[in-house]
Amino acid sequence: MQVLYKSTRGSGETVTASMAILKGLSEDGGLFVPTAIPKLRTSMDTLSRMSYQETAYEVMRLFFSDFSDQELKKCIAKAYDHKFDTPEIAPLHKADGAYYLELFHGATIAFKDMALSILPHLMTTAAKKNHADKEIVILTATSGDTGKAAMAGFADVPGTKIIVFYPKGGVSAIQEKQMLTQKGKNTYVVGITGNFDDAQTAVKKMLNDAALGAELAQAGFQFSSANSINIGRLVPQIVYYVYAYASLVKKGVVSSGQQINVVVPTGNFGNILAAFYAKQMGLPIHKLICASNDNKVLYDFFSTGTYDRRREFILTTSPSMDILISSNLERLIYRLTGEDSAKCRELMESLAANGVYEITEEMRSGLGDFYGNYCCEEETRQAICRIFENSHYVVDPHTAVAAGVYEKYKKETGDNTITVIASTASPYKFNRCVVEAVSDQYKDLDLDDFALVDALHEISDVKIPRAVEEIRTAPILHNRVVEPEDMPRTVKEILGI
Ligand SMILES: *Cc1c(COP(=O)(O)O)cnc(C)c1O
Repeated sequence: MQVLYKSTRGSGETVTASMAILKGLSEDGGLFVPTAIPKLRTSMDTLSRMSYQETAYEVMRLFFSDFSDQELKKCIAKAYDHKFDTPEIAPLHKADGAYYLELFHGATIAFKDMALSILPHLMTTAAKKNHADKEIVILTATSGDTGKAAMAGFADVPGTKIIVFYPKGGVSAIQEKQMLTQKGKNTYVVGITGNFDDAQTAVKKMLNDAALGAELAQAGFQFSSANSINIGRLVPQIVYYVYAYASLVKKGVVSSGQQINVVVPTGNFGNILAAFYAKQMGLPIHKLICASNDNKVLYDFFSTGTYDRRREFILTTSPSMDILISSNLERLIYRLTGEDSAKCRELMESLAANGVYEITEEMRSGLGDFYGNYCCEEETRQAICRIFENSHYVVDPHTAVAAGVYEKYKKETGDNTITVIASTASPYKFNRCVVEAVSDQYKDLDLDDFALVDALHEISDVKIPRAVEEIRTAPILHNRVVEPEDMPRTVKEILGI
């Protein structure tokens, strides 16, 4: 079956997978969605004997129809190699009554590596296939993890440049140092004096600015995106849900066809949407549990049917989820409207203009697969502490938000279905918060970030990841900070136009 892509705000015209990846965002401002979600036909028995790479191929070939087998296999081989510190790529760890799907074994120790290690290869392949003759400029807004993972993927990739915008003061110390020490002649990191939503909104605006696009084209450039609005990021994220399920079958934890729950710490709604797509493909998922931090727009949306971002933006210890405009929700909204792009556009325009939209009762009835809840800062801290005390397993604050929400879900529903929790970052990336949660001993010592790394090592016995050792003594290579309204000017300055 040939899967094509259409815009959530378009008039129904379709593009190939490679074109959708190359463009990132549709010209009408909508997001690309597959014309139909393909069914997973490979048997669970076969899947349970496959490596991560083989599973990736089984899933991606269904979505990326216009890539040849050879092209896709090459992209997969280049992405999921020794950059990951375990041959399993995404291992499951049983702790505290759940299965933690560790998605942080890649180069930058957050789950963004799962998709961003393959996106550059998909994109350069797509450029070749479509005879794109311009240099690709990847514009990226980051709440802390995407930026580093995208730069690690695109650094020194011929024919590309990457510009990353992050909220200055809105990311963890390790996240910031990871970005500011990034090497590569084609990488640019810019702090902004706003929050993630400001960065993402400005990036989407630039991607959609026809005049700016024309200026770029004249100078030999074209924009694309490494954010999860790009379908080339979303599809690789489906793979690990299939892989996790197959691993549970292999371990004999579930029998083929038995349902599981999935809990996802959520910000931009990309990761959980991938799980939803996995369910649409036929993976036996019962509930998709959407976990938020104090920025609980999604929880409120699931409880009331109203999406309202008109509220204070709260900086938390899970900064990668400090988001009030969850871009990928648009793909779900589009489905809920019965693929009515005019209605979808109306809702999204209302969000942009008024900061709020409300869905109909009928649309709400399509949300039955989802459960939403949130954890405040204290509950997050308690979850880190509890899991460590019960299972001697340290989780990062994002994963802790998911674990805390899972506890609430179990209490509320009594549902004891086997559950997979997406573990989205290494605790080393958020060492201060984690060390403070599990031990009082270090509280008054005023340790610097790398002394905290050593403290966490002492407490947890978990090997210090290469990604952290690498930046310990690395020089700072980037120092731009601009106001959000100066982002377009900064891009032009960087490109010399
Ligand atoms: C990006 C990120 C999230 C949120 O994922 P979305 O796909 O944006 O919902 C959660 N945890 C960590 C560590 C992240 O980097």
